[in-house]
Amino acid sequence: MDKKYGAYICTGCGIGEALDVETLTSAASEQGMEAKTHEALCGAAGRQMIEDDINNDGVNTIVVCACSRRVMQDELNFGDDKITIRGNIREQAAWCKEQPSDDKDQETIDDFSNEMAQDYVRMACVQAKKTELPDPFQLETLTRKILVMGGGVAGLTAAKEAAATGYEVTIVEKTDVLGGKALGWTKQFPTKAPYADLEEPTIGALVADVEGDSNITVKTATEVARIGGAPGDFNVTFKAAGTSGEWDAPYKVTVDEQDKIDKGQMEDPNAGYKKYTEVNPDGEKFGAVILATGWTPADVSEFEHLNYANSDKIVTNAEFEKMVKDGQLGGINSVAFIQSPGGEEHDMDFPYANSVTSMVALKQAKYVRENNPDAKAYILYQHMRTPGNMEMFYKGIQADDGIFLTKATVTGVEPTGNGCTVAAKDTLLGEDLNLDVDLVVLAAGMVPTTKDKAVINLAYRQGPAFLDLDLFDGYSDSHFICFPYETRRTGVYTCGGVRKAMPMDETIDDATGAALKAIQAMECADRGVAVHPRSGDQTYPEFFFQRCTQCKRCTEECPFGALDDDEKGTPLPNPTRCRRCGTCMGACPERIIGFKDYNIDMIGSMIKAIEVPDDDEDKLRILALVCENDAMPALDMAAMRKHPLNSLVRFIPVRCLGSVNMAWIKDALSSGMDGAILLGCKYGDDYQCHFVKGSEIANKRMDNIGETLSTLGLEPERCAVRQIAITDYDKVPEILNEFVEEIVELGPNPFKGF
Ligand code: SF4
Ligand code: SF4
Repeated sequence: MDKKYGAYICTGCGIGEALDVETLTSAASEQGMEAKTHEALCGAAGRQMIEDDINNDGVNTIVVCACSRRVMQDELNFGDDKITIRGNIREQAAWCKEQPSDDKDQETIDDFSNEMAQDYVRMACVQAKKTELPDPFQLETLTRKILVMGGGVAGLTAAKEAAATGYEVTIVEKTDVLGGKALGWTKQFPTKAPYADLEEPTIGALVADVEGDSNITVKTATEVARIGGAPGDFNVTFKAAGTSGEWDAPYKVTVDEQDKIDKGQMEDPNAGYKKYTEVNPDGEKFGAVILATGWTPADVSEFEHLNYANSDKIVTNAEFEKMVKDGQLGGINSVAFIQSPGGEEHDMDFPYANSVTSMVALKQAKYVRENNPDAKAYILYQHMRTPGNMEMFYKGIQADDGIFLTKATVTGVEPTGNGCTVAAKDTLLGEDLNLDVDLVVLAAGMVPTTKDKAVINLAYRQGPAFLDLDLFDGYSDSHFICFPYETRRTGVYTCGGVRKAMPMDETIDDATGAALKAIQAMECADRGVAVHPRSGDQTYPEFFFQRCTQCKRCTEECPFGALDDDEKGTPLPNPTRCRRCGTCMGACPERIIGFKDYNIDMIGSMIKAIEVPDDDEDKLRILALVCENDAMPALDMAAMRKHPLNSLVRFIPVRCLGSVNMAWIKDALSSGMDGAILLGCKYGDDYQCHFVKGSEIANKRMDNIGETLSTLGLEPERCAVRQIAITDYDKVPEILNEFVEEIVELGPNPFKGF
């Protein structure tokens, strides 16, 4: 596109009073853009001024220096055929001015704030020059058909809901019948007021609905053998349930990697990868996958003091449900339901237990009472969780004289001739207990089937399973707070017990959500845009392969397995798997990966557009590369709350810290800036990074660059990473001040001016 620039500076929202607008128009002029000003660019008249320039002068690249790009998005949207760049001079300059102090008078503060705003104007102009209109990626062929793995409540509901919107669905179920574990339930939890009575199972009706739906194909006694391809174009082979074999895994392990695997320093990415005798070797095309393979009861035999392995009078909750279904409660007149293992782990629940196991115990205690009105049930727990209306169910159970509930630490279960004795201490009664019962039921939790890494068997370069499942107890969510259905493989969505232990009504809602996500993934693939979290993003990473050294860093670091590679190690991108995080761009030492609107040259040039005074020791310059997901909003909110932001710092938003290429840090320091800080999401086990690994990877890269700086005679402390949550708006100014103080103590960059 031949660009015709239009630059606009807003003087509303206090900008005109806080800043010297003339110096801002001069900053734009330096970049070859004559800026117009207006008292409210977001208002009808302001927008009209820009539209007039578009219509009359052919302006197609618009630089708006005003408020944060996170606000007024509709008001300042001039269409997909225009480039619009937002420079933030409101939150990051006008609204975050420091207060006069002994060190700085008002004139100095105004001076510093104007310099900040001028830098943001310059950077916005440079960004406009370096941005190109995106050209959305289009698949050659796109399939709008959903594969549902698992024929239980979650899978059946997802299939039914997706089919109801007109999409074709195939359900693959490994057993001979649809229905899953719900076929074994005698009764269901109450769903209607007064939430006192157990309800008849609904699974039969759900199975009948699915079997009668012409949009749904059912394959029973079948499993998925492997899934290749990408959203909109998955290629799936099936196998007869229970068959297995071995095949060449897709991950090409290097010699170095094999060495690390052998030394236990790296997980074998191909562990669990299996070859099956495929019944359709050419595969069948699908657009998205819903993983609804459910859960398995947790193993409770590790708790030796409970003697589960030594007596048929000690069963799990799942086994008890089957006993009830099979009519085997004859002669059972007293049952102890143990919710927490006790022993050494006295305040813990069983692994993978949550509110569902609490509610199951209440339900099963009711079975005992309904089977024999003279029977007794004892529920011994550390945590009784009955969310929402289930509290009323709990209260009803509490009111039953035949059901005894107490918080208690179980110290042991001993089989006796006809039953067991349960010993417990620290009860609510303040007394130790010895209960002689006919049967003991242990609250085994619900282990997601993804714990078995082979469950999905992806033919991806990064291996067959979701990454790092061990870190997350086998759950595969990519971001448990913001994107509940998302896995770390785009286009594959989980629902039901494979995602979280949940009761049936919640499973139904969950499966409906996953069906919508699957539809969204296919439709986004059709439009060539990202699904999430950068919904609607039309860009995707482009590679200048002529300079690729096949180092494999991009393929290894992509958190979403979007990149396969050929035998030589050249990346093979799958753009519809891509979440547009830019981690590959940050990884590439050759700097040959970039997006049309976000690339190495663009950010590097923006950094160089920051004016670095080399003759004033009070005017140090510090670069802050800020994650747009949490840290940037936290900064905006800090400014909205009138917290001063240190005027020596210049902020540049990045898609994710994972996208930060260390070339930018070198650019900053070689242009004389005195320090560089990355502000991004929390990483580790309870990570908040929207791209799973980005902030963690950035932290490692910054450690490495610290070492490089040392070799150049620069202090590694000039580079730092800080973890910022979106709620840290009151803390972030101080975090910045502390870093700036450290840099002030180190003194100016010794390479300044060279
Ligand atoms: S690292 Fe991010 S941007 Fe790069 S291919 Fe993977 S998902 Fe896409
Ligand atoms: S990181 Fe860059 S050089 Fe290395 S394989 Fe990927 S594209 Fe090629």
